[in-house]
Amino acid sequence: MKMIREFADKLERQYGTSSPFELCDYLNIEFFRSELPETVRGLCFQKDDNCSIILISSSLDENESRYCCAHELGHTLLHPGLNAQAMVDLTNLCVPKLEHEADYFAACLLIDPTIEEWCEMYEPLTLKNIACLAGLPQSVVNLWHETAERDGTGIRRKKFEAIC
Ligand SMILES: [Zn+2]
Repeated sequence: MKMIREFADKLERQYGTSSPFELCDYLNIEFFRSELPETVRGLCFQKDDNCSIILISSSLDENESRYCCAHELGHTLLHPGLNAQAMVDLTNLCVPKLEHEADYFAACLLIDPTIEEWCEMYEPLTLKNIACLAGLPQSVVNLWHETAERDGTGIRRKKFEAIC
């Protein structure tokens, strides 16, 4: 999982943006909003060797779309072998490991590094605060926190224990 974080950081540095929509542009991934069945938030598949497509449900709000696009981008970049068959993201129906990886990638991309710096230097924020600031579901921020702690890349544990 450490590599996923480094990968997200590298993309951010390389393209100067953490917006998953802009990254799609840079990476030649076509992105569409589309009417999808109610249970499908987003999906991604490979059109040909050079081009992947991400579809996001048009019913999602701005924060949800950004998170969902980052999540699908995670699948596209981290799990290219699986693109052959479309990966449909029904709620909790994908392979859990791959879902965690895509979620962790999304969190690394969308949680602003200044949030972490802020936590270290000033007031510690609760994971709930971070979820609000980053526009992510709380479960994704929890996963991000647990994973970063395990990898030793997270905000120092001591500060968090008091408030979690
Ligand atoms: Zn997924």
